[in-house]
Parts: sequence; structure tokens; C-alpha cells
Amino acid sequence: MSVRPPAAPARNTTEVPTIPLGSPLLLLGRGADPATERGVVCPGDLPARDDPTLAARAEAAKATLGDRVMVLGHHYQRDQVIAFADARGDSFELSRQAAAAAAPFIVFCGVHFMAESASILGRPDQTVILPDLAAGCSMADMAEGHQVVDAWARLERAGIADVTVPLTYMNSTAAIKAFCGEHHGAICTSSNAPTAMRWAFEEALDGADPEATKVLFLPDQHLGRNTAVLALGLDLDDCVVYDPWRPDGGLTDEELRAARVILWKGHCSVHARFQPEMVTAARDRLPGVEVLVHPECRHEVVLEADRVGSTGQIIRWVDQAPAGARLAIATELNLVKRLGDEHPDKEVVFLDDTVCFCATMNRIDLPHLVWVLEALVAGEVVNEVRVDDDTRHGARIALERMLALPGDGASLRREPAVAAT
Ligand code: SF4
Repeated sequence: MSVRPPAAPARNTTEVPTIPLGSPLLLLGRGADPATERGVVCPGDLPARDDPTLAARAEAAKATLGDRVMVLGHHYQRDQVIAFADARGDSFELSRQAAAAAAPFIVFCGVHFMAESASILGRPDQTVILPDLAAGCSMADMAEGHQVVDAWARLERAGIADVTVPLTYMNSTAAIKAFCGEHHGAICTSSNAPTAMRWAFEEALDGADPEATKVLFLPDQHLGRNTAVLALGLDLDDCVVYDPWRPDGGLTDEELRAARVILWKGHCSVHARFQPEMVTAARDRLPGVEVLVHPECRHEVVLEADRVGSTGQIIRWVDQAPAGARLAIATELNLVKRLGDEHPDKEVVFLDDTVCFCATMNRIDLPHLVWVLEALVAGEVVNEVRVDDDTRHGARIALERMLALPGDGASLRREPAVAAT
């Protein structure tokens, strides 16, 4: 445990474009076959999950590595992983922290697109490690680079590509971020989506008439629809859904030309589970409850909620709620459980009765964290995520356009005070 890593450790690198998409996952990455299993590269033995020394091993490895490693923990990670995080946050906050960090090794406890974003924003001498390369994102996987290229060709055939701005949610692959950068577009987060969509209509295309401009919103149809309707005041009829699995996206030329916002048919498998009936049931069960939902939830759910906001906004609302407040939350369960534990004076409940974690976030566990940390101690980099230079260049353009936007952190709806019960 006392061996310092050499200056240039051996690398077990997986470059983004080499990862096959649409292939099955493998439990815990054991016995991986990277040719057929999506993103799984896990050579060597993982520590056993029931090893009682795992926490001590993680601590010892971190202590040995000192300031040469920074462990980042996304809000949706398990408590056992968050316990070792030097910083917690949402995907964008963590990528910025990684870029600002002096540490040459970033262990990103999150999902694949987040590690890519850290690689895009990070310094060339930094190494980003994802403890389990099979920790993907179902939403990001719903838009593949070649499908977006095909969709753009469809818009060209309909004669609207030159008045369309592609805008992608942070939860997308590096290839799609690069596509947006190369086509006058940008990236957005769940907190700045209203600002980014306004920019796309009003400023992205020099001298263009905002009324004639369209937005292609990738890959989350729900965030795109909620933003267009609730923040920009567009009608539901102004939005159409492009289905990459149907001929011509399932839309006629006339439908595409009439639309203001073309929503990609993608969603988060965790947030799309919430239904409006769950809001009604929570209100019946918990009189006075305040319902807080993430904008990745369906439009019908958002309409029923008291507040809609990003992960960071939900955390702030819970922090600020008075003692005794009842809060039902529609976002990832690890975070909701942690908020409940951290606020014992408030009643914090998950909106759904059925337990549902983000399965891919949950792939990062203590055995994987110990495995990558001990490998670093032994002088080996495993599970590196590195975005190739061309993709990185285009994606950085899109990210820099987003960073140039004024930060408003605006909620999609008016924020009433949280009532105590
Ligand atoms: S919660 Fe949804 S958007 Fe976030 S990583 Fe999981 S599947 Fe992807």
C-alpha cells in the first residue's frame, strides 16, 4: 500500500468511440468481453462485496494516493461511495471541480457521459477513471451519434436544417455534444435549460428571425417539452417528437416545418416512471405535503407538482424547508433517502411507492472503487475514459457556448414557500 504510482502508469484505456452501444450489461464486470458487452472492461479480480475490510482498504488507498487523486461522487451515488467522495454534485458541477483540481487522477463515481464530460473539460495531463465502465445512462444511450447525423439529414431534406439549432442536455454522449458544437448549437443542464433554449431561438443563428428558428432538443423529450412550454410559453402543439427508430423520424415534412421544437424521443428510465396519480396519492396520504419534481419527469407530472427543479434546486429546497415540512420528491432514490437521513426534522419521502434506484449509477459500488484506487496505488490506470481530440474539440465549443450564457438557475414554475405541517 505504500508504493507511489510511477509518473506514467500503465494504461488500460477505453476511448469513447470504441465502446459498442446497444449491447447487454454484465453484472459487476466480472469475466468481461468488451467485444460484446457494452463498455465493460474489468480485468483482474474485484474485491468481494462482503469483504469487511473494504472501507478500510478504500481509506488506506486514498491516504496513500493523497492529493494525486480526487474522488467525485454524483448525488445519485450510494452512501457507501459518497462516504469517500472529496466532492459531491451534479454532473456539471463535478466536471468543473475536476477541471479545477490539481490532482492528476480523477475517479468519477457517476455514469459514463459524466466521465466523458470531465475528460472534455479537464486538462490533457489529467486521467479520468470510471470505476465500472458499464455504468452508462439509459437516456444518453437513446441517442447515438449516427442517429443524430441521420436526423440532421432528415431536417435538410425538409429544408429546415439551416434554421434549426441543436441543443443537447448534458446527459448525452461526447459525440452528440461535439455535433452540437459543430452545428451552431450548445449544451444545457437541467438548471439552465430555459436560458439555453432562449439563446438558441434568439441568438445562436446570427441575424435569424427567432420566430422562424427551431430547436432540435436532445436526448430528453421531457426536459425539452417542460422547458419549451413552462419556461418559454410555447404550446404543446409547437413541439413534435422525432423517433430515430421510425422512417423519417415518424414525421412528415409539414409537421417538421410547422414545429418550433423538435424533441428527440428519449427519456430517463428513472424519472419517467413517476405518474400524476402518484402526486394525488401523496397528497391524500400526507396532508400539506409539498411535491418537488425533477424536469426529467413527464409533463403531466410536472403540471401536478408544486415545484420543478434540478437536482441542486431540489437539495436547496429541502435544506431551506422549515422543520416539520412534508416533502414528496420525484428524483433518484439514493438522493431522496440521503436527504431524508440528513433532515430528520422533516418528513422526506419518495414520490413512488415502488423502490427504484438508477441501476447504472448503482453499478459503482465499494468493490469497484477499491479496485480502481488500489490499481492506482500499484501504478496501474484501469477504466480510463478519454475522449478523442476531434470529439473533444467540438464538444468543448458547445460547452463553452453554454458557459457563456448568463446563469439564472431559474425554476420552470413559480416557487411557493414550503409549508410546514
Ligand atoms: S438517473 Fe436517468 S438520466 Fe441520470 S444517469 Fe440514471 S438513467 Fe441517466
